[in-house]
Parts: sequence; structure tokens; C-alpha cells
Amino acid sequence: AAREAAAGWRGPGRLADGTAVAVLANVADGAAARVAAEGPAEGVGLFRTELCFLGTAVEPDVEAQAAVYAEVLRPFAERARAAGGAGDPTPAGGAGDRSDVKVVLRTLDAGSDKPIAYATPEHEENPALGVRGLRVVRRDAGLLDRQLDAVALAAGRTGLRPWVMAPMVATEAEGREFAAAVRARGLVPGVMVEVPSVALLAARLLQHVDFLSIGTNDLTQYTMAADRLSSDLADLNDPWQPAVLALVAMTAVAGQRAGKPVGVCGEAAADPLLACVLVGLGVTSLSAAAAAVPAVGARLATVTLEQCRAAAAAAMAAEDPAAGRAAALAALS
Ligand code: PEP
Ligand code: MG
Repeated sequence: AAREAAAGWRGPGRLADGTAVAVLANVADGAAARVAAEGPAEGVGLFRTELCFLGTAVEPDVEAQAAVYAEVLRPFAERARAAGGAGDPTPAGGAGDRSDVKVVLRTLDAGSDKPIAYATPEHEENPALGVRGLRVVRRDAGLLDRQLDAVALAAGRTGLRPWVMAPMVATEAEGREFAAAVRARGLVPGVMVEVPSVALLAARLLQHVDFLSIGTNDLTQYTMAADRLSSDLADLNDPWQPAVLALVAMTAVAGQRAGKPVGVCGEAAADPLLACVLVGLGVTSLSAAAAAVPAVGARLATVTLEQCRAAAAAAMAAEDPAAGRAAALAALS
């Protein structure tokens, strides 16, 4: 029955009581964006730009980068035009005009499990705790400037102004400086919540940026101090861990107080049961691989916000992930 409901799900994301929850797709390139734009996802919650350059030895120039980014923006720009929307959503407004299409582009997340020749240091003792994500600007500030210039060019050419977020932000100053650089180019700034420090200071980050996006893969790894690639530690590396859910809740509450959107774009958003819990914790959008989008959307359509809140409270109060899952399931049925 769940499979049938998923196959028939067309979006937009709504709970059974009508509460809007945007369901978005994670994409890696133009081909994936075209597939996503033809499906029920309302937009893109995570465009992982580093995946376009994994095998690239030399940094592509601004023109070449702009062409790659435009490939991802274009299918959604066309869809927005077909729907009669401007393709230029204003996040602080938060309202649900579904003819607007949201595309969230993430600046280069090079390093750790995704080394890129031209951006990543060669030898690091602990690459997951090293110079990755936004931290590459410590070695070469121009890398970010050139990427943002390319994104602005792609925005101008496609008529779709993306939201732009930085990975691996750890401090308020990093968020403030990133936001200024993004705004200077007429784009909408946000940061990812992957390092627990940023969840703890979410309200302060939200004074500078227009949205937050929780990367539960890394937030779990850094909260539980468990390598996300280690199969020995899979029980710790589980977004159902109550400590991870508590940090998601803190972040979502900060977003609600600031009146700004807080999404989840890690793998957690692809699990339909956990998606309900995340909504109960207060997140306003979910972004998952395009293949997972229909199952998530269909599940959300069967539950109310009140049920999601009960499931979230139960999962957070549980001792461990297995108990949390069972408690959430009970609260939703
Ligand atoms: C995350 O950490 O949850 C995330 C979405 O980023 P990535 O998986 O690319 O590190
Ligand atoms: Mg990450």
C-alpha cells in the first residue's frame, strides 16, 4: 500500500492536516536536475557542486563553472516559467506559492571523503576534522569568490536566483562573512548545520543568513564522534540518536523564532518515518535523493502535525535509535 501511495504521489508536500512541508530533491549535476524537475519534487534542496569536479585536476574557470551550474538551474527555471512563477522565492516570506521554485546550491564541499585535487590539502591526519568545506578559503579565498561569481553568472543566464549555502560552517563569523559574499552577488545566503557548534548557535547564525539546512550525515558524525564511513560504528552513526534529534530540534526552534526556513538535506530526510519525526521537530523542508522523494511525500500526507510532534517527542525521549523508531511508529499509527 505504501508503494502504491508513493507511485501516485504528485506533490506538493503536505501533511494530512494541510500543513505545507516542501519536499525537495538532492542532485549532483544537470542530468539529475532534469530528472528531478520532471518528477514531483518542488525544487532542489541540495546541489552538491563538488561532485561535478571530483576528477578535475585544475580549477575550472568562472565561465566553465557557470556553464555547469546553469545546467542544474535551467530545468527548474523552465518549470517555474511554465507554471507562471518568477522562479525567485523569498525565503523570509516563507509562504507557499508553489509556482516559485527553490534551488539550493551548496558551495564546494571538498575534502574528507570527497578530496578535490585543486582544493584539498594532500596529507591530513584527520581529514574529516581538517580543511574541508568552507574551510578551503583559509588556503585560497579566491576559490569561493570565483565559485560565487560563477553562480551569479548562471543565475543571470537562467533567470533563477538560487539559494546558496556553505558546508562545514563552525562559527558565527564564518556564517557572517559567507552571507556578505553571497548577498553582494544578489543571491540568498544560508549555512549548513553539520557541526554541532552551529546548531548550538543557530539563533546567532540566523541573524546573518536567510535559511539553515541540516546535513544530518555530518551532524551525526560530529555529534557522536563516529566516522560516517566506519561500519563498526553504524549504531552510533545513526540520525535517530536522541542527541542528534535534540540538535535538530534546537536548530528548528531557532528557525521558527527567526521566521526563517530550516530544512534537512541529509540521508535522514529519505527515511519516511524519520521524515515525519523531523517535521515534528520543526523543520520546514526535506530534501532527499529524487528516487526517495515520492515515498517521503506519500508518508507525510498520511500524518498530522500533531502526530509528528508526538512522534518527535517520543523518539527524542527514547534511549537509543531502535527504541526511538518503535516509539515514533507507535505515535504515528
Ligand atoms: C550531510 O552531511 O548530511 C550532507 C547532506 O552533506 P554530504 O552528505 O554531502 O556530506
Ligand atoms: Mg555533509
